[in-house]
Parts: sequence; C-alpha cells; structure tokens
Amino acid sequence: MPEIKHPEDAIVRVKRTCICGSDLHLYNGNVPDTRVGMTFGHEFIGEIVEVGAEVTEVKVGDVVMVPFNIACGRCIFCKQGMFGNCHESNSEATAVGAIYGYSHTAGGYDGGQAEYVRVPYANFGPTIIPAGMDLDDAVMLTDVTPTGYQAAEMAGIQPGDTVVVFGAGPVGIMAARCCWLFGAGRVIILDNLDYRLEFAKNFAKCEAYNFETDMEDPVMFLKKQTDWIGPDACIDAVGAEAEGNALQTITGRKTLLQAGSATAVHWAINSVRKGGVVSIVGVYGPTDNLVPIGNAMNKGLTIRGNQASVKRHLPRLIDHVMNGILKPSLLITHRIPLEDVAEGYHMFSAKLDNMIKPVLLP
Ligand code: NAD
Ligand code: ZN
Repeated sequence: MPEIKHPEDAIVRVKRTCICGSDLHLYNGNVPDTRVGMTFGHEFIGEIVEVGAEVTEVKVGDVVMVPFNIACGRCIFCKQGMFGNCHESNSEATAVGAIYGYSHTAGGYDGGQAEYVRVPYANFGPTIIPAGMDLDDAVMLTDVTPTGYQAAEMAGIQPGDTVVVFGAGPVGIMAARCCWLFGAGRVIILDNLDYRLEFAKNFAKCEAYNFETDMEDPVMFLKKQTDWIGPDACIDAVGAEAEGNALQTITGRKTLLQAGSATAVHWAINSVRKGGVVSIVGVYGPTDNLVPIGNAMNKGLTIRGNQASVKRHLPRLIDHVMNGILKPSLLITHRIPLEDVAEGYHMFSAKLDNMIKPVLLP
C-alpha cells in the first residue's frame, strides 16, 4: 500500500492498467538499473483515494487518467511543453524525465500495474476523465494515443505526404491512424506479423506489408513504391527489440549492438527521401548506437524523437475521443485480471492469440 510522501502526492486506486511495448524492454532486461521489487506499469487510470496537504487540483473521489510521464509542470522543460523531459521528477538521469514503473534510470517510481499507486505532482499530471468517456478509451489516452499522435506530429507531415510507419504494435497502428489527421496522402505500415498488419489496415485505413514475405529488401521496396524518391517521412515505432538487432552482454548488462542494416532505424534513414524526416518513438537503451549517421547527414535529414509529452496532447485528444474521431479502445484485444499479469506479459511478449493491446483489471 503506497503512502503519501510529499504534500503534492495523491494515492490512486487503479481501475485499468495496460502492458506496453516499453514494458517489454524491462521484461527483456534492456533497461539499465531495473531493480527487483519495483512495480511496473505506466499506463493506468483510477480513482483518487487520498491527497497530500498541498493538492488543490484534484480531490478524493475524482476518476483520473494519469499521463505516463511524471512531470512537475513548472520546470524549464515543462514550461516548454516537454513534459517527457521534466527536470525535477528524475534526479538520477539527465536524458529523460521520470516515468512510472520504468526502472531507476527513469526515476525509480513504482508503477500502476497494482491496486494502488502513488502519484507525485498531483496538481499537474492526473486529468479528470470527462463524464461519458469509456474507461477503456481513457486508459489508452495515458500513453498509446498521445504517443502515436506525437509520432505523426514529429514527422512534420505536409499535405499529401507519403509516410511509412515501422512496427504495427499499438503505438505504430495509432501513429498510422494519426498521420491522416496531419494531412498525409498515403500511409504505409510494415511489420512481420500478419495479424497485426490486418488489424492496422482496418483500424488505420493504411497500406500494410510484411517485411519478411512481401519484399526482399524493405529499403528498395519503399523506394520502388515512391517512384525511387523515398517516402517523405518515416516513423520508428519498434524500438530495441527490432528484428535483426543483436543482444550481447557487456559488463554484466545486455547491450544492443547494430547487426547489419536490419533495424527499423536503418530502414527509416536509408529509405526516406533526401531532406525527409525520421520520427523515432521506439524506445532504445540510453547508449544504443544504431544510426547510419553518414547517410543521414548526406541526405539532409531531420531526425526527431522523444518520449511523448502526454499532457500536452490531452486537450485535443480528449476532444477527438469525445467527438468519435478516435476510438483508441478498439486496440484492446485482451482483458486480463491483474493476478494473471505474468501470463499477460508472456502473451504480449510472444505475440500470442493475436494480441494487440492487453488491459489488466485489478
Ligand atoms: P510492440 O512490441 O507491441 O510492437 C512492436 C512491433 O514492431 C511488433 O509488432 C513487432 O513485430 C514489430 N517489429 C519488430 N521489428 C520490426 C522491424 N524491423 N520493422 C518493423 N516492425 C518491426 O510495442 P508497442 O507497444 O507498439 O510499442 C512500440 C515501441 O514504442 C516500443 O519501443 C515502445 O517502447 C515505444 N513507446 C514509446 C513511447 C514514447 O513515448 N516514445 C511510448 C510508448 C511506447
Ligand atoms: Zn506505454
């Protein structure tokens, strides 16, 4: 049972929580300083059951969605809307702000795959779920929807652009869906799991190809699809476990090494047109070195990436959900009791039973 540790904390009783592709990096041992005993989970919604003395923006009984970033809302980076890079919430690392349940590299806070969770900076993060919103849609607003949206935003899409999304997991599928909101003219998604490609085609109304069976070389395939120019933008929604990445143990921890060119980042940089944009939301280890920097420089690319700044996107995305423009809960394929969380991780990791997104029910 978590306790209030700071006057701006709240305690939330969790109603829904999801397993994310980012959790798989913890599960697979790719995130440094993941300590035994820490509770995972950064996608959750629930009811506020206790508040600290200085909490004024939410009260006991409110049902809230909690952005996966732990952000103070007032530091130099939060003031610029970079809530994924809060300077106050994470004292142990400089690259990223804190994230619930995401190792001591990301602040060491316990996460929401639990019955109760401590929510710091409760005047800023928790956002009241509007009356009438489906709680399954709400939990999908804590990460996947804003992350897909920001992936498309960072791709700098101009009207009519061709955008390629690598990875048809929940994040990639949502990114493909959001590309249309920015005026894309053509959206293509690549994965090697046919059931996910089929799902993406229906949900995101995009073209979908299997990079193992529909083509020999993804880079040549994408060039050919675009009159040998290349797509205008590429989105990496894969991250550390990309097919073709090699794991090697260095000084006791697993480190990703570049293996040939078979990674989503390589494919993105090498296929995108000259002057194009590569938008990276796939998560890598802090020092993974996967970028063919010479090609990126010679092509004049813009490469952008970040943890999504969830809170920045919420007003617009809440509107989209309430108006029926987005229905993110359609991505939820499995509902699993919290006590079966281990089986949930196994299934999500091994991509069993046509799983897209699992929600855990405490
Ligand atoms: P997921 O594991 O369900 O999906 C990844 C998909 O990529 C899988 O379907 C897999 O088959 C596919 N894939 C593997 N190698 C590929 C390759 N070379 N090319 C194309 N596809 C390939 O995970 P998810 O929940 O969709 O998350 C995707 C990524 O986004 C993860 O790295 C996760 O950590 C990251 N993420 C980032 C943020 C952020 O704020 N930046 C937020 C959430 C998730
Ligand atoms: Zn997540």
